[in-house]
Amino acid sequence: MPEAVALFSGGLDSQLAVKLIVDQGVAVECLTAVSVFHQSSAEPDEDHPTARAARRLGVPITFIDVSSDMLAMVKNPSHGLGSGMNPCIDCRAFLLRKAAERMAETGADFVVTGEVLGQRPMSQRGQPMRQVVREAGLEGLVLRPLCARRLPPTIPEQRGWVDRDRLLGLEGRSRKPQIKLAAELGIEEYPSPAGGCLLTDPGFAFRLGELLAHRDADVPDVALLRLGRHFRLDDRTKAVIARNEAECRRLESLALDGDVRLEAAEFTGPVTLLRGNPYDENLRAAARLTAKYGKGRDEPSVAVDVTQIGAAEPGRITVRPADESEVQRRMIRRG
Ligand code: SF4
Repeated sequence: MPEAVALFSGGLDSQLAVKLIVDQGVAVECLTAVSVFHQSSAEPDEDHPTARAARRLGVPITFIDVSSDMLAMVKNPSHGLGSGMNPCIDCRAFLLRKAAERMAETGADFVVTGEVLGQRPMSQRGQPMRQVVREAGLEGLVLRPLCARRLPPTIPEQRGWVDRDRLLGLEGRSRKPQIKLAAELGIEEYPSPAGGCLLTDPGFAFRLGELLAHRDADVPDVALLRLGRHFRLDDRTKAVIARNEAECRRLESLALDGDVRLEAAEFTGPVTLLRGNPYDENLRAAARLTAKYGKGRDEPSVAVDVTQIGAAEPGRITVRPADESEVQRRMIRRG
C-alpha cells in the first residue's frame, strides 16, 4: 500500500485532501505544525481540534512545534513578507522540507497538501507552488488533490498509486466547491477559512513589527503578543496588562525569571507583566498603568505590589494612576 505524509492544518481543504487520498487506498499520516503564531493555543495532544479532525478521518497525526523556525523566517524572509508579517513562501518551503524529513523517517512515498491553485495571493500561485517543491527537494512528489488536474501529473499519479481522474481541478478563491464536496463526503466539522495564522492578522502583525523594530525578540516575547494591552516603556522594555481574569492567569504562566509582576494591592485590577529593564523609572510607569486599569483609577494614589520573578523579596510602590496622555503615549496599537 502506498504511504503519504499530509501537511494537515485541520481546515476544510486539508481534510478534503486527506479524504480524497485515503479513499484511494493510500495510508496517510498527518503532519501538523503548531506554533506561537497559530491562533489555536490548544495543547498538541489528542484533544487538539486538529487531532480530532485526523481521528474522524481515521488517520494518525504527528505534531511539530515550528515556533522558532517561523520566527527566524519572519526576521529574515528570503521570499519577502505578505500583507502582514507572513513569510508564506518560505513557510511553505519549510513545511515541505519537514514533510520530506518525515517521509525519510517513515519510508512514505509522497506528500499531500490541501493547497488550491490561486486561492491565496502569495503562496498558492503556480510559480511559488513549483518553487517551494523544488526548494524542498520534492520534485514530482507533492500531490495537491484539490487542484491536481490543473497541474502536471506527479509521480504518485504516473505510477498509478492514485487515480488522477478521481482528483479535482479546483482553482480560485471561492470555497463553494469545497463546502459542497465536504457535504458529499460527510465532513461536517471544520474551522472557518483564514482562521489559523496570526501573522496575517493586522493587529498582531503590527505588534510583532513594533517589537522587532526595537530588539531581536525570541519566542517567549512573541507569546506575550497574543494577549493583553501592550505599552512601550523604553527600547528594551514593555509592560503587558491583562484584560480579563483568563489573561491574568495566562500572563502569569508566561512570566520568565527577571520579569516583574505588578498588581494593585488594595483595589481589584489587572496583573501586569514588565519585561525588559526593571529600572525604577520603568517600574513606576508600569505601576501607574496597572493602577489606571484597576478600580483605583480615580484615586490620588494607589499601592502596587511588585514581584520580580525568581527574586526573593516582593516590594510595594505607591503611585498616582497614569493619566490618559501617558496611556496614549505608551500604548502600542495600530493607527
Ligand atoms: S499564512 Fe502563516 S502558516 Fe500559512 S503559509 Fe503563511 S506564514 Fe505559513
